Amino acid sequence: MKEREDDRVEPTTVIQYIDGQWRNPRQPEWFESVNPANGETVAVCAVSPEGDVEESIAAAKNAFRRWRRVPAPQRATYLWKVAEILEARKPDLARMMTLEMGKVLAESLAEVDTVIASCRYMAGEGRRMFGDTLPSGMDNRTIMTVREPIGVVACITPWNFPLSLAAYKLFAALVAGNTVVWKPSSEVAVCAKLFTEVFEESGLPPGVLNLVLGSGARVGNLLARHPDVRAIAFTGSTEVGKGLAEMAGRTLKRVSLELGGKNAVLVLADADLDKAAAGIVQSAFATSGQRCTAAGRVIVEASVQEELERRIVQLTEKLTVGYGLDPKVQMGPLANAKQFSTVSRYVLTAKDEGGRVLFGGHPVSVEGFEEGFFYAPTVITNVQRHHRIAREEVFGPVLAILTARDFDEAVEINNETQYGLSTAVYTNNLHYANRAARECESGLVYINSGTSNAEMGAAFGGFKDSGNGHREVSYHAFDVMTEWKTIYTSY
Ligand code: NAP
Repeated sequence: MKEREDDRVEPTTVIQYIDGQWRNPRQPEWFESVNPANGETVAVCAVSPEGDVEESIAAAKNAFRRWRRVPAPQRATYLWKVAEILEARKPDLARMMTLEMGKVLAESLAEVDTVIASCRYMAGEGRRMFGDTLPSGMDNRTIMTVREPIGVVACITPWNFPLSLAAYKLFAALVAGNTVVWKPSSEVAVCAKLFTEVFEESGLPPGVLNLVLGSGARVGNLLARHPDVRAIAFTGSTEVGKGLAEMAGRTLKRVSLELGGKNAVLVLADADLDKAAAGIVQSAFATSGQRCTAAGRVIVEASVQEELERRIVQLTEKLTVGYGLDPKVQMGPLANAKQFSTVSRYVLTAKDEGGRVLFGGHPVSVEGFEEGFFYAPTVITNVQRHHRIAREEVFGPVLAILTARDFDEAVEINNETQYGLSTAVYTNNLHYANRAARECESGLVYINSGTSNAEMGAAFGGFKDSGNGHREVSYHAFDVMTEWKTIYTSY
């Protein structure tokens, strides 16, 4: 499809938001946010210099003194308002998401819906955040525990879900009484600006939410080292997450890490293969495979492998790759040149190691979008357990198929990567479904649905190198965002 005139964007400017003001950086330095479908500049964005990052932390620290004393149900009223504004701005937010990182518009719209649901869920938590009351062993005494906010929280977020992964952190931090400095991925700075404008319009007091911009290596590290930042809430790669945790450890910050995955779909011989193939294709290729919960592996019992592969290929060849604003398209471009070269490299390696490409395995040329980072949804079979494609996260539209002798071997293969985020199991056998749920080393297990359909209020996070044990999307986020205080009252 040729790009229509009204799909073009005039590049905008993105600057920092500190203490309730949109501010130019004190030392001008800029980077660009680029549309991955056509290489056009979407925005010119300020890099926050060290002094401005310091100021954002100071503003958040200052605002914390008042914000922490606002009763939680009143803090939540800002979130109710944010949800309303998000409803009104949904089309603009979704369109910008597609322009900045490439996912198809239907997915972008669904992401804004998720953000709205998350906002209302967390606003509701303003009336809960329960503590305990305990019987005292002494006369005339009561004991209770209450959740207290911890102070300035730095949120560092990736580009694949530009709004929702920030929303989970921001909403939980704010309703709990913390103030925030947010550093979004440089790839999606305009989405961050639009989201910050929503908070501004809600009337959130100055300094409660601050936006700083620039590369993680510079700005992210400043936040991780700063003694006045009391927690880091991070979603991104395992490598960067480990580095941040190390840095943050020096000042004993709380650290919440949502990291990479090498998620698998186990298909047992008795499974409904149509259902399994549909779940696999959706899990592997939605968001062009650029999801932490994307299915990168299928582990199938040998007796049904050929039949399953035939169905997977049949569904995959129906996917149209192209510009995310085109309603006929189901898979947009990869987010940037780095993603494109990583995916291409992994496919070459998989072939060198003996994998056989059943579908895709090459870039896609889209008419009118010759500069775009389009890659075909790719299915590779004959993958062995020791192959890199079986063990490492690709973060792209590449599905590796491995064979298992039986249920036990399928679980063993599932568990042998460094990651432990999401596993799906297709079976109608109650015994194996329950055993899979207990034996798979994953924070999320799905019986008879794909690897990535998280729901609001259900704890989200991974085992092993997929995280550090914390959870978000639910009230469990308060384990990081609040501190317990125990109050003894004698009378
Ligand atoms: P990334 O390179 O780790 O970047 C994530 C964020 O960290 C960005 O804001 C980035 O900023 C910043 N950053 C990069 N290097 C940094 C450093 N040295 N110090 C501090 N901050 C730094 O990850 P990504 O490529 O954006 O996202 C893909 C990864 O995220 C995948 O591994 C995926 O599985 C994971 N992910 C996990 C979840 C989950 O919930 N478990 C969800 C989504 C994605 P700049 O990019 O601006 O430099």
